[in-house]
Amino acid sequence: MVDQLRFFAGAARCMEGKASGEYLEGYTSIVRREPVGVVGQITPWNYPLMMAIWKIGPALATGNTIVLKPAETTPVSTLKLAELAADILPRGVLNVVTGHGDPAGAALVTHPDVDMVCLTGSPATGKWIASAAAETVKRVHLELGGKAPVVVFDDVEMETALETIAGTGYYNAGQDCTAATRVLAGKGVYDDVVSGLAEQARAQVMGDTSAADTTLGPLNSARHRERVEGFLERRPDRAEVVTGGDEPELPGFYLEPTVVAGLEQGDEMIQDEIFGPVITVQPFDDETKAIEWANGTRYGLASSVWTRDVARAMRVANALRFGCVWINDHIPLASEMPHGGYKESGYGKDLSMYSLEDYTQVKHVMVSLDG
Ligand code: NAD
Repeated sequence: MVDQLRFFAGAARCMEGKASGEYLEGYTSIVRREPVGVVGQITPWNYPLMMAIWKIGPALATGNTIVLKPAETTPVSTLKLAELAADILPRGVLNVVTGHGDPAGAALVTHPDVDMVCLTGSPATGKWIASAAAETVKRVHLELGGKAPVVVFDDVEMETALETIAGTGYYNAGQDCTAATRVLAGKGVYDDVVSGLAEQARAQVMGDTSAADTTLGPLNSARHRERVEGFLERRPDRAEVVTGGDEPELPGFYLEPTVVAGLEQGDEMIQDEIFGPVITVQPFDDETKAIEWANGTRYGLASSVWTRDVARAMRVANALRFGCVWINDHIPLASEMPHGGYKESGYGKDLSMYSLEDYTQVKHVMVSLDG
């Protein structure tokens, strides 16, 4: 997160207008990049501090002022951040309001003096914001959910793949919009992928997240655990819970790391974001089917392709309709590279020069050389 703030602080000094010059005889044209103004930012509970940094970094670096609303279940780290920033930033530049989506977040979306609204949250909230913001024609920046496909071909380097998929599928208890939780495996490796992921799941260590050997923490709330368990309860009879699915005897909202096989493309667990420690595995026949199913949800945030065949990796990466495709890995991020969705995963980018552009507007100043 420190690296991300440093990146934005430096990158803002290198922003460019595309061109300035004498396009009309007797005039010089200049492009100015200006802040959008007052930006309302709304963050989710899954990475409260990191999401606040991703939002305030580019907005402050490009000269905007901010009213930030953290999620109602996780406001404390954002309040602490504002407290620390109060000694550094001029008064009124970074403001935090706490409360529920409605009324605290909704007030930002409908307020006539807010020029832009940025949300990291669910597609349902994003859709409401896009339509409510239309009333005052605010700029909207939406980082919504994901349902990342993990496309594993038969020539995969299996040991690394299994370790990485389990590690990044169960990271943050699966409460990650890019989590590697929707595995599509070639017919030749399907059985090995299912059994290998089950083995990885059973090896996860649940417990106190501040303990060094813990690999899996709890879900965010009782309500969220019930939501995740609802997917398991409603699964079709043909679906098999290969491992996990139960609540362990631990204080907190834990759920065992789970692997589910036997699902079909139209099933709820394949189509909707579970946002918990549940990895699904589907077998595919060929590359065409793998691409069709990988693209076959309403989401388009992140994806990965696992193969040793470079040409295939590039073909599939080009065909995937996602804001990010990893090849033989899943989840690493770089401050310099954009993070954001296609389709119902939203529009606008976090991180990178692209997010700095999102938080600025371009003005054409034209000077008459006669005056
Ligand atoms: P959510 O949409 O319920 O809440 C997100 C934020 O929006 C919260 O602060 C909430 O109070 C606020 N909100 C809710 N209703 C609102 C309204 N009517 N007006 C204004 N604000 C409102 O989502 P959540 O359950 O907190 O977060 C999980 C979701 O966030 C998942 O879908 C996840 O994939 C997504 N997410 C996306 C990214 C990304 O970068 N694309 C990153 C993290 C999380």
